[in-house]
Amino acid sequence: AAAPLPDYLRGLNPEQREAVETTEGPLLVLAGAGTGKTRVLTTRLAHILATGKARPWELLAVTFTNKAAREMRERITHLIGPSAEGLRWLGTFHSIAAQILRRHAELVGLRSSFTILDTDDQERLLKQLMEAEGIDTKRWTPRTLASLVDHWKNRGWTPAKLPGTEDFANGKAKSLYAAYQNRLKTLNACDFGDLLLHNLTILSEHADIAEEYRRRFRYILVDEYQDTNVAQYLWLRLLTSSTGNVCCVGDDDQSIYGWRGAEVDNILRFERDFPGAKMVRLERNYRSTGNILGAASGLIAGNRDRLGKTLWTEDEGGDKVRVRGVWDGEAEARLIADEIETARKTGLKYKDMAVLVRASFQMRAFEERFVMLAIPYTVIGGPRFFERAEIRDAHAYLRLIQSEDDDLAFERIVNVPKRGIGDTSVQKILHLARTAGISAMAAVHRLIESDELQARTRTALAGFARDLHRWRTLASDTPHPQLTEVILEESGYTDMQKADRLTGQTRLDNLKELVQAMQGFDSLQAYLEHVSLVMEMERASGDDSVQIMTLHGAKGLEFPLVFLPGWEEGVFPSQRSIDEKGEKGLEEERRLAYVGLTRARRDARISFAANRLVYGRWTAQMPSRFVDELPIDNVQPESETGYYGAAPSARQVQDRWSEGTTFGGGYDSPGWKRAQQRATSGSAQRTPPIDGVARRIESPATAAPSGQWSRGERVFHQKFGYGRIQGIEGNKLRVAFDKAGEKKVIDSFVEKA
Ligand code: ATP
Ligand code: MG
Repeated sequence: AAAPLPDYLRGLNPEQREAVETTEGPLLVLAGAGTGKTRVLTTRLAHILATGKARPWELLAVTFTNKAAREMRERITHLIGPSAEGLRWLGTFHSIAAQILRRHAELVGLRSSFTILDTDDQERLLKQLMEAEGIDTKRWTPRTLASLVDHWKNRGWTPAKLPGTEDFANGKAKSLYAAYQNRLKTLNACDFGDLLLHNLTILSEHADIAEEYRRRFRYILVDEYQDTNVAQYLWLRLLTSSTGNVCCVGDDDQSIYGWRGAEVDNILRFERDFPGAKMVRLERNYRSTGNILGAASGLIAGNRDRLGKTLWTEDEGGDKVRVRGVWDGEAEARLIADEIETARKTGLKYKDMAVLVRASFQMRAFEERFVMLAIPYTVIGGPRFFERAEIRDAHAYLRLIQSEDDDLAFERIVNVPKRGIGDTSVQKILHLARTAGISAMAAVHRLIESDELQARTRTALAGFARDLHRWRTLASDTPHPQLTEVILEESGYTDMQKADRLTGQTRLDNLKELVQAMQGFDSLQAYLEHVSLVMEMERASGDDSVQIMTLHGAKGLEFPLVFLPGWEEGVFPSQRSIDEKGEKGLEEERRLAYVGLTRARRDARISFAANRLVYGRWTAQMPSRFVDELPIDNVQPESETGYYGAAPSARQVQDRWSEGTTFGGGYDSPGWKRAQQRATSGSAQRTPPIDGVARRIESPATAAPSGQWSRGERVFHQKFGYGRIQGIEGNKLRVAFDKAGEKKVIDSFVEKA
């Protein structure tokens, strides 16, 4: 007689059950978001253990993040009890690779006690090697080399396997890479990328060891398979025989790590690598309502490069996805904070709500608003805005300018960026400061005059002191946002970040956001005071807090209510992504939008701002093309300022003015340029906009053809309000605005008043 169905199998649909119970042979579960892939994987693990097919340490289960690994372990424990504890090989690619490497370290010239270097150590090491080679490390930075090395390791290339030559340091990159690997061995160390790379070497050069692992891992399970890179893929291949019991689950529409060397082709290769592999499709989505799913599916249909699949839900209706235009970034933060409070009154917890942004610089406005309203929040996958290293560095400069006595600030940036003031010298300075009872800067001034330090260090310190003095003088008559820009430029801080291919751009964006945040304060002192207040606020108390994270960090998660702010051209899709990778980049951005929408269970709310301070300038933003691509049936356009669906009335603009909103100038942003091109070429129609919304928003841009202006005429401008034309130069008008003063504006942004 058939045994009764174990509890953990109940409630699975037939396809899910098939995926759980087909334990033997290769299996690929390729399915859309929220169809239960992760649930299948977890249940499958439980099933294999419960039926005694394998013992916990014979299972290899790979997840994308440590958080996901923890959750999976918890869920299995919940399903089958404490026997889940023996799951030694459940973790991320890196954590498992590290375990394997410890056991065979000697085969790649390491000892099992090897240390794993962080990126700072890595760069320092590379720099030493480059200097030994007489390479100009200002021109070719260690950071760039570090990201090259990382890239190679992600592709599984050891120095010997490296194809071609790289246009770096006159073709020396390859030999530097080899030297670096040797140096690491001497130090009994490896970097992050080595964990997998050494695994590949060990497994491919020692057939017996590979065989041992293939026997040990009787079942292999991989989540988020679409984002595995080449090295990870090769690693999996080495640990699996072609008839192995390997189960990979993934969704090609959620492949969002192309920039890290992930290869969606791995999915397609699966069937070739594992002949006779079984394929299970899951089509029922359990996570989201019909409208959310409809919006997400309609959007992703715009991608050409996809396998395509069906998705349906029993939860037919639900709220439509709200799409709102707001005036600016601050208004967006205000709106979302208000809605969070409202949602809480209707019974949602803070932790049921998430704000998913495209780039971390967008977080600042939300954090400030949440602090102000005492809404508890957590930034997932990164420090809070004011705790970021680059923000703290910038603050340290400003604090030192405010007060020479701020020794903590001094210590933080005296050698950032590197100016040849080493640790020993810094220790000497601090020692003198302590013993003489003076500030570190006072100690510096004394030491410059003495012979205590090497001549080179003295020169460097004198230069630093001169810079500080100059900036302090400048501070008396320069607005603090500009002052900050000058300091970041002149200190070399900006250049240091520019040289960093990996995270430099993100950090620069954050710094620009910082400069923008400063504009809201009367003085540098007022600003710094504000920051210390914000920093002092307790970290979000307890577990119940709103989750702020990037779209990338949200993979695999779900929340009842999801806010998706900043859906504007240039922000999302990110201009950089399109500039660098063209159509491919755009498709990856669209997948990111799909990931974002499909995180929502009941309620997804998209927003875009009409104006945003981008790089310290107010620019008119265009709604994201993704807004236009959402199927109209599943969305509900809404308006906070009346701005969604129509340009603001003159009245509204006037109201804004009397509220005291400040506007800067700036007509050379990408958003404006595009608008201008569209306005002048008259062609360049995009996908038909929802209900003409986007078109109407652009309408001021096409309102009045040029050549119809006369001096003295009254006009209305979207940002500057009413004014009178003073002069006409081609398509540029010089207008004396009633409130904003005289400005040069492009005529297509002006209406006759
Ligand atoms: P993603 O692609 O976003 O990673 P996924 O395919 O991994 O999604 P899961 O996270 O496993 O999907 O499941 C989505 C939600 O649906 C979860 O809340 C899960 O508990 C629920 N779910 C999955 N299968 C079922 C089922 N058969 N019955 C009820 N709920 C289910
Ligand atoms: Mg999942």
